[in-house]
Amino acid sequence: MPSFSFTIDAECPETWARAGTIATPHGVIQTPIFMPVGTQATVKSVAPEELHEVGVTIILANTYHLMLRPGSQLISDFGGLHAFMHWNGPILTDSGGFQVFSMGHLRKLSEEGAAFKSHLGTHRWAERTLAVKDRYRTEQALFGIVQGAFEPELRRYSAHVIGNMPFAGIAVGGLSVGEPKAVLWEMLRHITPELPKDKPRHLLGVGSPEDFVTAVSLGMDMFDCALPTRVARHGGLFTRHGRVNITAARFRVERGPIEAECDCYTCRNYSAAYVHHLARTEEQLYYRLGSIHNIRYMLRLASQVRAAICAGTFPAFRDTFLADYTPAPEEVREEQREKWKMARRANRALGRPTSVYEQRKPR
Ligand SMILES: [Zn+2]
Repeated sequence: MPSFSFTIDAECPETWARAGTIATPHGVIQTPIFMPVGTQATVKSVAPEELHEVGVTIILANTYHLMLRPGSQLISDFGGLHAFMHWNGPILTDSGGFQVFSMGHLRKLSEEGAAFKSHLGTHRWAERTLAVKDRYRTEQALFGIVQGAFEPELRRYSAHVIGNMPFAGIAVGGLSVGEPKAVLWEMLRHITPELPKDKPRHLLGVGSPEDFVTAVSLGMDMFDCALPTRVARHGGLFTRHGRVNITAARFRVERGPIEAECDCYTCRNYSAAYVHHLARTEEQLYYRLGSIHNIRYMLRLASQVRAAICAGTFPAFRDTFLADYTPAPEEVREEQREKWKMARRANRALGRPTSVYEQRKPR
């Protein structure tokens, strides 16, 4: 019996969205799916039981960080990462290029999956990774990474080459690093048509509600991002109309929940006024309640998107959602633009090809 399989349950006839099912030894994942990030073998301030309760089916961990601390030997001695962190569901591990030299350790760390990024940018590296996987006969499912910066031709080529290699799934890397959104979507329009249909597609590092919905329509299935929990810790909570700041004065005497239609533990049990108070006083309970709300929001959105794909109503769902949802404030986008400019300068310093997009001013 294969340890990993992917089946497509429904496809949108108008967009590239699909609903699928991934079967793994640790559980079933219905796609499209949002995966909370647990870099240090913990989704910050949320216990595994709480993750299960909000509907999380797969989490991300970072092999590189865990190898450094607490170390792969210790995790192995405790029976592997699942036992060590008390999470019995699937785990996808993302790691630096460093891990290619340490596959034996990696094999001990995670049974479920591994995604690799490399700055070497050669597809030979992907071939070597598959060879090492063969040698160790690991049950992990390996995802190949599509690279190519912001160059349409490089992206198409990389998608074609990686798509034809015997990886269990495909991850798209090197995007969502602060570039204008239009560039990100344009790259996906080049990448998706080159990818095999029968493998799950993971868009690395994308996780705002509006980006999730848009990327699904461009053919992506799996999403990981620290953003929902990170912004929650800073007071930013998702609602159907956009992100609100729970520390704002208008919540001080709000008797209702953060969002009336939210079914999360926080909204079912606490007034927005109490959550506001916890956030303003920087109480530890706030970090847990805020994170639970945002993770539940993303999982609920994922299941709504999936239901719409299965019902044949995804384009209308997408349009209504995006019309109702106001994206993050301008200052947040400004911060992202600065990251984009830094990455661009770094590319130039490394002598990488310049992109046509560089001549356009980010909007
Ligand atoms: Zn809630």
